[in-house]
Amino acid sequence: MIFHDALDIAEIVRQLLEEGWEIHPEDLAHIAPYPTEHIKRFGEYSTHELGIEPEAYDPKLDVDFTQLRDQEPAASGFGERDLLVGADGVGSAVRQVLTPRTNPRDTGVRFVIGRTPLTEQFAGLSRAYGGKIVGGGVSLLLGAMRFPIPPKEAAEKLAPEVTLPDIHDYVRWAMVLPPNGSLDTSTAQETALSRMKGWHPDLRALIEQADPDNSTLLPIGVVEPGERWAPGPVTLLGGAIHATPPTGGNGANTGLRDADLLGRCLIEAAEGRQDPLTAVDSYERQMFEYGGEAVRHSLAALPAFVPNLERPEPA
Ligand SMILES: Cc1cc2nc3c(=O)[nH]c(=O)nc-3n(C[C@H](O)[C@H](O)[C@H](O)COP(=O)(O)OP(=O)(O)OC[C@H]3O[C@@H](n4cnc5c(N)ncnc54)[C@H](O)[C@@H]3O)c2cc1C
Repeated sequence: MIFHDALDIAEIVRQLLEEGWEIHPEDLAHIAPYPTEHIKRFGEYSTHELGIEPEAYDPKLDVDFTQLRDQEPAASGFGERDLLVGADGVGSAVRQVLTPRTNPRDTGVRFVIGRTPLTEQFAGLSRAYGGKIVGGGVSLLLGAMRFPIPPKEAAEKLAPEVTLPDIHDYVRWAMVLPPNGSLDTSTAQETALSRMKGWHPDLRALIEQADPDNSTLLPIGVVEPGERWAPGPVTLLGGAIHATPPTGGNGANTGLRDADLLGRCLIEAAEGRQDPLTAVDSYERQMFEYGGEAVRHSLAALPAFVPNLERPEPA
């Protein structure tokens, strides 16, 4: 699950190379899931590692939606004005206005996520990388991130204008806690270690030696696309309308699919092959279908990661 995006992309790139396509670093920079500014990788951003704090933003959108909602789309001049795309994630302010009854639902499941430098000490764990260790009502997922070239060095060679963090091979670990798992004041590491009494010393050391700035405790919420709104000049994309638990490894991919589909629908409108309202409607109808399916798929996969969890029903 953890490296789905990178593995899938690497596989496709290999196929393209075999077919004789030339792939350049710039091409990869466009599609690579890491590093990136917008796709969360375990809930973090590369800027975190650079020590750059994102600028504060006001979560309330300064947009008056009432004029749009009170007018017929044709009367509002839709087609000549911009389309507002709410791509603002699971807590979407745009969604709260557009479809106020579509709310995030807490699955109760908690993720503790961290990363630890990949040292010789953890060589013995290599068979567990890419796997799942289950015990004491939790599961621990491990993945080794080995850089053929450390990112900072790669950027200096390939794209000197880009500054990447000076990080080296690490083990990414994620512990899935059952409902009612602690979200109290303990640190992420303390929470994980409290569930690992009697576990192998190397596994405990892995958590103890984690980078605290890259370890965190997350509630897992879902947003299921349910109520359709009348198509108009405001729409939603990605986690704002279909937030999936990470157990499907499909959240970011589905968001990218939205962007691609919406883009193609809008091009059709711009080329006069369908009117803008029909284009947005077509996007939303398809997105609701596969977005809902992505959420159901990830929810169905949850119990396999949380021992003793009853299968959560879609809302
Ligand atoms: C632990 C974990 C592991 C995951 N693993 C995978 C995986 O392996 N594969 C996969 O495909 N998906 C995975 N996902 C899911 C993936 O992270 C999400 O599906 C994806 O980030 C959703 O993208 P998005 O752009 O819709 O929303 P987000 O990534 O949440 O982006 C929304 C952006 O909007 C910004 N924003 C919000 N409100 C405002 C505002 N008012 N003004 C300005 N900006 C605002 C936010 O700061 C944020 O940058 C995982 C998620 C988690 C939590």
